[in-house]
Amino acid sequence: MRMSDQAFNRLSVLKKLRAAEPISRTDLAQISGLNGGTITAIIRDLVERGLVIEERLGSATRGRPKLNLRINPEGAFVVGATMSENGQLCAEIVDLRGQSVSSHSAPAPPTRSLEDLAQAFCRTIAEAIAASPIPRTAISQVGIGLPAIVVSQTGMVELFETFEGAPFAFAEAIERELRIPTRIDNNNNILARSEHWFGDGGVDDFTLVVFDLGLGGTRYQAGQLLIGSHGIEAEFGHTKIVPEGGRPCHCGGRGCLQAYSSVSAIVYQACELRGEPQPAIDQLRSRFGEVVEAVQAGDPDMAELFARAGRLLGRGLANHVNMQDPERIVVLAKSRDLIDLVSPPFFAALHEDTLPVLRDGDRVTFKQMDDSAYARGAAAMVLEQLYQFR
Ligand SMILES: [Zn+2]
Repeated sequence: MRMSDQAFNRLSVLKKLRAAEPISRTDLAQISGLNGGTITAIIRDLVERGLVIEERLGSATRGRPKLNLRINPEGAFVVGATMSENGQLCAEIVDLRGQSVSSHSAPAPPTRSLEDLAQAFCRTIAEAIAASPIPRTAISQVGIGLPAIVVSQTGMVELFETFEGAPFAFAEAIERELRIPTRIDNNNNILARSEHWFGDGGVDDFTLVVFDLGLGGTRYQAGQLLIGSHGIEAEFGHTKIVPEGGRPCHCGGRGCLQAYSSVSAIVYQACELRGEPQPAIDQLRSRFGEVVEAVQAGDPDMAELFARAGRLLGRGLANHVNMQDPERIVVLAKSRDLIDLVSPPFFAALHEDTLPVLRDGDRVTFKQMDDSAYARGAAAMVLEQLYQFR
């Protein structure tokens, strides 16, 4: 799904302006690569809509005063909301610059129904707005990130492992109650948007890999998130990496990358080696901590699980580089220990399996994940909408 040229130009001008403000129109034309006439028309439109303000510099006594452009932070406000792993719902109010104005959190519902979850989000968002200095009428959109398979264009939750009632029209349920346009998306896409808007550099061409309980991947190209023809993001974790006799995956397939390179895969394999039963989902993180401790105490079998997770992820991303050659790849993980254990074998395998002409040691960065990225990413998703279509 591609946006119109006009919307694309407006979005790219606003993103450049946000990164470089305050900036003169001439400099903005230069960094955006658009011609003067196009920039002038876009800026006039954005000023009329109240999204951009022109600011007079000093008191010019002669000639035309020099003007600088800025994003009008009060041009619009949005809400970014998300659900944390410990069962809290968080809502953050963000201005047009992407800066947080206020935030609020409340516990998720005790039931496992998607309808109740939507209602709980409505309450948390309404409370966040009431507790903030921003009137409800000034909130343009709501963005919600969920750890689920979601079709963002329709607002449907298609599959949510820990909640019942899918498929469920989640965005519509929130809109009906709050009367504010609402968009939802999968958490991996939300993290990619956060990286694109708030990460260092704001790169337009990158792949984000989330190495957590599962393994997710999201691709940004030409400043836009790529959504597949089925409306969901690519499922990098389910690319097949071991051809025969591969480990079973929860998707029903075998040999998936996620069955080796994910926190849950490392824990499940450690339990198999020790002859212990598989732990429940809510035990995975504490059990993972125990496996890390075993490696640090010198257990070679546990160390090999991390080495293989790193090697196979390196091979999987080398395949991705050989096909798509993204400018940057960011791998997010919650645990610093995981990053330290996985990255040496990862980089060795990535180098070996990448076509020599495409080898670039600086392309991939491992980063420790910050939970606040979810709410910011959800806000960035709706800011992108405002920037394009308002
Ligand atoms: Zn799979």
